[in-house]
Amino acid sequence: MEQNKKMAELLLPAVNKKPQYYEELYPQRKLPDGARVTRIAPSPTGYLHLGTLFAALINRITAASTGGVFYTRIEDTDKKREIEGGIADIIGGLLRFGITADEGFVEENRQAGEYGPYRQSQRAEIYQTYAKELIERGLAYPCFCTAGELDEVRKIQEKNKIRTGYHGEWAKHRNITYEEAKALINSGKPYVIRLKSPGSEQNTVVFEDCIKGKIEMPENDEDFVILKSDGIPTYHFAHAVDDHLMRTTHVLRGDEWISSVPKHLQLFKLLGFRPPKYGHIAPIMKLENGAKRKISKRKDPEAAVHFFAEQGYDSECVTEYLMTVASSDFEDWRRANPDKPYGEFKFNLKKMSVSGALFDRDKLDSVSKTVVSTFDSSAVFKKLTSWAEEFDPDFGKILTANPEYTRRVLSIDRDVSKPRKDIAKWSDAKDYFSYFFETLYKPDLTLPENISRGDAKLFLQKYQAAYDPSDDRTAWFEKIKSIAPKLGFAEETREYRANPDKYKGHAGDLSTVLRTAVTGRRNTPDLCEIMRVLGYDTCIARIGEAINSL
Ligand code: GLU
Repeated sequence: MEQNKKMAELLLPAVNKKPQYYEELYPQRKLPDGARVTRIAPSPTGYLHLGTLFAALINRITAASTGGVFYTRIEDTDKKREIEGGIADIIGGLLRFGITADEGFVEENRQAGEYGPYRQSQRAEIYQTYAKELIERGLAYPCFCTAGELDEVRKIQEKNKIRTGYHGEWAKHRNITYEEAKALINSGKPYVIRLKSPGSEQNTVVFEDCIKGKIEMPENDEDFVILKSDGIPTYHFAHAVDDHLMRTTHVLRGDEWISSVPKHLQLFKLLGFRPPKYGHIAPIMKLENGAKRKISKRKDPEAAVHFFAEQGYDSECVTEYLMTVASSDFEDWRRANPDKPYGEFKFNLKKMSVSGALFDRDKLDSVSKTVVSTFDSSAVFKKLTSWAEEFDPDFGKILTANPEYTRRVLSIDRDVSKPRKDIAKWSDAKDYFSYFFETLYKPDLTLPENISRGDAKLFLQKYQAAYDPSDDRTAWFEKIKSIAPKLGFAEETREYRANPDKYKGHAGDLSTVLRTAVTGRRNTPDLCEIMRVLGYDTCIARIGEAINSL
């Protein structure tokens, strides 16, 4: 048996399949021209974070808008860093944000699709088959260097100002013979498998990144590890094998991987695979003291997707906002298509930010308010109560104590043609609606500057006597207007504006006194409707309390 073959048998004796087997098992996909196959490949080493959600959205929409396939693959090769419940959190989180996969981990515990398994720890034999072939072809070899030895080499390189790494003459086991390897294995020494890179630093690789455009980098000449000592692949090797066999057409991933592209292109070439198109997504940035920086898992609560759930940002609001971050032309499209699902937007990777789009809470809130304003009161009731039950159970109890009443509260200025854009997230609701619930209500009689306590008292006394809950909105305001002249206030705002010296104010100011007495606020939705929902007794009682306190 020739040396390389003997080496392959020595290193991976249990592997008895050939790459051809897998090539046939996972045939080319039959998809229409231009359909893109994309994926998200999270490692369950932490909880779902904003970057993963963002990348998932980009991949999902790229597949959807080309009639392609989007799948989820779990990259769990780093068992040491894996956290319990990581997969469930990531997959469950994506689903909660409406990001469904066509294949792969379609649910937390369920894989679907013909190209699986979609979990790397279940694919060891596949990687080993391809690694064995590389060894047979003399393109991979065992390396027995210990961490300490590698460290020594690095120190020497640093001292001599040589590029660090396992390359060229520094690749100690590059030319190891079968006999040498065998002896070391027999002596019980652990080893990894490295690629025997045919590259040279002098050469340049050029590729067209779908997001960042043309990129040039030196070719890879490093004999990087493809299988670790436990036979589990590194990210680089698993990426090449999986994205080839799962027939991915577009690898759209975080741009921290951009420097690895020369390694990846080399692997694809040596394995005889057609490389996918790459698109590197710039991280979401934050503005801090006028400078842009990456959102950090350590510093920024919004880096964890849980933050949005806890705050009560509806998933639709977050995805809608992320679409504005993803594509500079999304907002124009949205203005022209206010009612269409975002999935119908023709997404173009070229419209993505190359350097990293800014995450802006104010913008999120404003997009969110618009989205929430499109929900009818029964949807708001459902979403708000289920959020409150999970994150603010006391408030949940208040909301569900009298569901009919809560529904009426939520429908004010909502089930109308131009709903108010007031709520960005469910955690705003407790304060926003507090005056509807006795246990939350806090009276606050801060009067407009131009109104004396005496006038406010007189006005409320007169109003209390005249209030009729069956008045419609016009009649309701007429009552306030009719009291105005008696206290030296103009009935109409324009009269007051024309002769500001003649009046103390206008009827609108008096309605603010009423609003403050009934709700403790200077600013609310339609007060007439609020009073109707609160009911006659409550309104009269609150007005009475206000009179007593003046
Ligand atoms: N497991 C890698 C990560 O979480 C995936 C990168 C990729 O999408 O290829 O960063």
